[in-house]
Amino acid sequence: MTKNENTTVVVVGGGVAGLTLANFLLRGGIGCTVLEKHSRDHVENRQRAGSLDARGVRLLREWGLGEVVEGSTSHDTADAGMPLLIDGKKRLWKTGEDDDGAFCPQQILVRNLIAVFLRDGGDLRFEAEDVALEGIDTERPVVRYRDAAGAPHALGCAFVAGADGYQGVSRTAVPADVLTCDTHEFGYAWLTVMAGVPADPPAVLAVHSRGFAARITRGPAASRLYLQCPLTDGVDEWPDERVWRELGTRFGEPVVPGPITSKQVVPLRGVVFSPMRHGRLYLLGDAAHLISPMSAEGMSLALHDAEVLARAVTRQVEKDDASLLDSYSGTCLSHTWERQAAAVWMTETMHDSGDASYEGEFRRQIARKNLESMVEPER
Ligand SMILES: Cc1cc2nc3c(=O)[nH]c(=O)nc-3n(C[C@H](O)[C@H](O)[C@H](O)COP(=O)(O)OP(=O)(O)OC[C@H]3O[C@@H](n4cnc5c(N)ncnc54)[C@H](O)[C@@H]3O)c2cc1C
Repeated sequence: MTKNENTTVVVVGGGVAGLTLANFLLRGGIGCTVLEKHSRDHVENRQRAGSLDARGVRLLREWGLGEVVEGSTSHDTADAGMPLLIDGKKRLWKTGEDDDGAFCPQQILVRNLIAVFLRDGGDLRFEAEDVALEGIDTERPVVRYRDAAGAPHALGCAFVAGADGYQGVSRTAVPADVLTCDTHEFGYAWLTVMAGVPADPPAVLAVHSRGFAARITRGPAASRLYLQCPLTDGVDEWPDERVWRELGTRFGEPVVPGPITSKQVVPLRGVVFSPMRHGRLYLLGDAAHLISPMSAEGMSLALHDAEVLARAVTRQVEKDDASLLDSYSGTCLSHTWERQAAAVWMTETMHDSGDASYEGEFRRQIARKNLESMVEPER
């Protein structure tokens, strides 16, 4: 028999977006239940991003959640030792006024957000299968799911937060004739590689005629390597030995190889779904947009959406004022497009200034000039 329950907000997805929103709501005394498809062990060990920008770190601190990024290496501390290699020559980034970001592996952030939420009495349900949204354009939506034992549940709520990522189910509840999807394909991909070797310094980026390359820390004994490659490449074309050799070539010096644990080819693209609200469903994070990983802002965008939604729901519940809920989609889309603009600039600058075979020599020269504006003059 179906178990019926009620809450104020059902959050679908226990990733960065969903867990941040849930923690914010919990702090504001708003009832919420998080439904996560995978097991706790799975989400706490899923390797994804590695860097949270200054905006994201600041936002977490402002909400009293600074503890979830404690212990991470700050960008500021690492800055002096984070070279950009242009054709193998070491260049230093111009020091930013606002680089209080942190190298925080996504799985650590997720692990910490889960720990804090559960410690503070939050309702988080793992292994929630067959999540289905009903009545999102009514006053009282219902979210159905099956628990790990197969038992059916129905959660009545005032609002549904669709935070289940790009492949999730929430977005599919928005009628196709309402939802718009705008996409930009950059035309190349990244081979992303997890390696069991430390990254010292924590982040090295390289611009080279053979393509962009990077090595970013993922903790004391792991790093993620990125190599620009054609969209048509598969991981089989990248045996371990080729990965290390190519990284060394693009860095302009040999790199010490180590064990490789995973490889994936990720096309670089930007995607924005609009509107981010339909009825009582609010989309956030990757469920609503993807940003080029070159910008390293996906988690920060997710945090931004979570904050706007938390404030909007709180205003509605405490003051019976729907104004922030009504402006949610517009507010988040405006921010998303601003960050997409910056991400396109950064992605094109870092890729077009290296390998001219995609965009040609004219574009390479322009991108080089843009690149020079970000680094200290050559000594
Ligand atoms: C190569 C690469 C590098 C990146 N590097 C960075 C970086 O350095 N910095 C940065 O800020 N961002 C980076 N990003 C982006 C970042 O990883 C994402 O933007 C971020 O994961 C978005 O979080 P989210 O919570 O919206 O989605 P997700 O992390 O995808 O979380 C969604 C959650 O929903 C769950 N779920 C899915 N379907 C269902 C369902 N049907 N029912 C219930 N639960 C469901 C999933 O299991 C998951 O836990 C990178 C991305 C890539 C591809």
